[in-house]
Amino acid sequence: MRNKAKQQDIGERIKNFSEVSCGYSNDQARLETERCLLCKEPLCVKGCPVGIDIPSFIRLLRENKPEEALRKIKEKNNLPAVCGRVCPQEDQCEGRCILNKKNIPINIGALERYASDYGKQSAVGSQQSAKKNNLKIAVVGSGPAGLTAAADLAKMGFLVTLFESLHSAGGVLSYGIPEFRLPKKIVAEELGYIQGLGVEIKTDILIGKTFSLNELFEKGYRAVFLGLGAGLPQFLGIPGENLDRVYSANEFLTRINLMKAYKFPEYKTPINIGKKIAVIGAGNVAFDSARCALRLGCEVSIVYRRTETEMPARIEEIENAQEEGVHLQLLTQPLRILGDDKGFVRGLECQKMKLGEPDASGRKRPLPLKDSDFVLDVDTVIVAIGQTPNPLLGKAESRIKVNPQGTIFVDENLMTSIPGVFAGGDIVTGADTVIAAMGAGKKAALAIDNYLKNQVKSAS
Ligand code: FAD
Ligand code: SF4
Repeated sequence: MRNKAKQQDIGERIKNFSEVSCGYSNDQARLETERCLLCKEPLCVKGCPVGIDIPSFIRLLRENKPEEALRKIKEKNNLPAVCGRVCPQEDQCEGRCILNKKNIPINIGALERYASDYGKQSAVGSQQSAKKNNLKIAVVGSGPAGLTAAADLAKMGFLVTLFESLHSAGGVLSYGIPEFRLPKKIVAEELGYIQGLGVEIKTDILIGKTFSLNELFEKGYRAVFLGLGAGLPQFLGIPGENLDRVYSANEFLTRINLMKAYKFPEYKTPINIGKKIAVIGAGNVAFDSARCALRLGCEVSIVYRRTETEMPARIEEIENAQEEGVHLQLLTQPLRILGDDKGFVRGLECQKMKLGEPDASGRKRPLPLKDSDFVLDVDTVIVAIGQTPNPLLGKAESRIKVNPQGTIFVDENLMTSIPGVFAGGDIVTGADTVIAAMGAGKKAALAIDNYLKNQVKSAS
């Protein structure tokens, strides 16, 4: 239980892509800050991967100083308006709040969002630029890991260039998470803040193809950070995955979010879907796909082989999706996608499952129920069972050591097998969270600073 912010009316929100949560009103924010005990040894801070001084920013909000509250947050977090909206706070800061004992932890996420939305970000940003030291750093990938590393390095005085292969910066924040959870205007404002620190963003450049890592060093960059993300979709390997109207969640969401297919023909990217959609998977990516499809006027089922308890998506998003009319087809394993004579999807053959003993992941293992096969009547299938790291750079640069799962190998300082090349975020951990990627970006910025200081020392 948490004190939720008001949301857009259900009947209305399923017809639009506008943000579902309206955020805290002034009164709600004040009441929530007054509930905080401002603990002397706050457990919530230990639960925050970037270590925001949570009680201090809540105290500043209580004193009606949102700008100062935002400045306090920005000491540690360069993307507060994003984190306030999409962090799984229930597993992090809020999960540790002492008021969980009374079942209603402080809604730290809603307060962080409130501080960001009301704290006049531009005024705060302009005060944090540092004196430049003329050392150039290249950051590759503009997701939360790259953006955080770039911002922290710029604050330390480095000249930072951020290279992004897509035509827009933001990584998953731009191409994955839909507008109704994270408006692109908010992402643009956060990017503006980071550019305001002096970070130069260059889009449409694929490192490993447009320039090699060697070429970056030849251009005078003294160190490189790789925040390449985990953007390679996984498939089930069942018959029928090549049929028309089978999408990876990545393609479906990229068309909708980055290419604005939901505004076709105003925007030129089409999206060819039917009326009844099965989304396979139960993480945030699956629920985002399901809720986008719903807003395009489709009937949508989430097909998942375990139960609601084991679903990896955020609880709030599962609740929102169900309220909006997404059907949960639980304990169901897809076996085959069926096609019609023109090569389009006409159904999804499945079997029912039951839960057995826990497997290596600690979750109960799904086991097939004999003679339980059935066909789901759908004409479009979206596969959202996970993403793996993008292999391109690892293949192009043979000196980069890659782990068997495809993640880039790094040492305790996030340095790869190439001296001066660091990596962090999903490319190192596999698909994780925004804040975990940001934590890695922060750690890498410090490690790069130390690495270059040591180089200067040994040269003198
Ligand atoms: P990314 O965000 O993936 O960014 C990597 C960037 O690098 C991309 O822009 C890519 O184009 C670029 N790139 C890759 N290779 C190259 C190259 N060779 N040259 C130049 N550029 C390159 N997490 C949460 O905490 N809460 C959520 O609610 C949530 N919802 C999600 C919903 C979806 C649909 C998805 C896909 C993920 C979600 N996540 C969520 C996970 C979270 O977004 C990721 O863990 C996080 O974005 C990882 O950050 P990153 O910087 O490592 O990589
Ligand atoms: Fe406030 Fe909860 Fe943090 Fe204590 S643990 S400072 S009550 S948010």
